[in-house]
Amino acid sequence: MNKPLILVVEDDTAVANLIATTLETQDYHYHRATTGAGALLDAASCRPDVMLLDLGLPDMDGVDIIRKLRGWTGMPIIVVSARSEDADKVAALDAGADDYLTKPFSVDELLARLRVALRRVRYDAARSSEEARVYENGAIRIDYEAGCVWRNGEEIHLTPIEYRLLCLLAKNTGKVLTHHYMVEQVWGAGGADTPALRVFMATLRRKLEPDPAHPQYLQTHVGIGYRMLRQSS
Ligand code: CA
Repeated sequence: MNKPLILVVEDDTAVANLIATTLETQDYHYHRATTGAGALLDAASCRPDVMLLDLGLPDMDGVDIIRKLRGWTGMPIIVVSARSEDADKVAALDAGADDYLTKPFSVDELLARLRVALRRVRYDAARSSEEARVYENGAIRIDYEAGCVWRNGEEIHLTPIEYRLLCLLAKNTGKVLTHHYMVEQVWGAGGADTPALRVFMATLRRKLEPDPAHPQYLQTHVGIGYRMLRQSS
């Protein structure tokens, strides 16, 4: 990939300038938009690698922008929002955003989130268009056809629910999945609740993580959900 292009959608000039300066220091290309309508136009015409999207724009709700974009692009969208309420983040993630940053955020935090998003872009580009039968991430390997999981070549025995949770997270590596979304995908509507999900995720983590106290793969987002992180192999 050449220099990644980041579309910065932000109506607050001070925040947009801070982001732009940060991106310049890292040699990223960027393009700026200050409205939702402008963001939608630029997303189609510039084809950015990642979008940084402020949820509170003058003309459109950020969640509506995400829904419109998801009709035609899987480009990573990182929501940047002053709203600290978890409900807004969850709504944005459920609409298809990959990740979120809450203002005020640090420059290091912004860059770390961008690296995660770009890793997903690179991985998707490298993968063949055919749906992969085998998933590999660091020491973890899933054979979807055999329904088996290994860590460092050693098979890990999972219950059917743990396996389904792992596959869901693996297929969305790099993306924050909400509790609501995961429960719906694994159990169907009304099939389980968030406390039950936490119990299964705890046992999955104990089986999967080399050191469950310092997870490398399964990241917890308190009050929001979980994410599978990509490790270099
Ligand atoms: Ca704003």
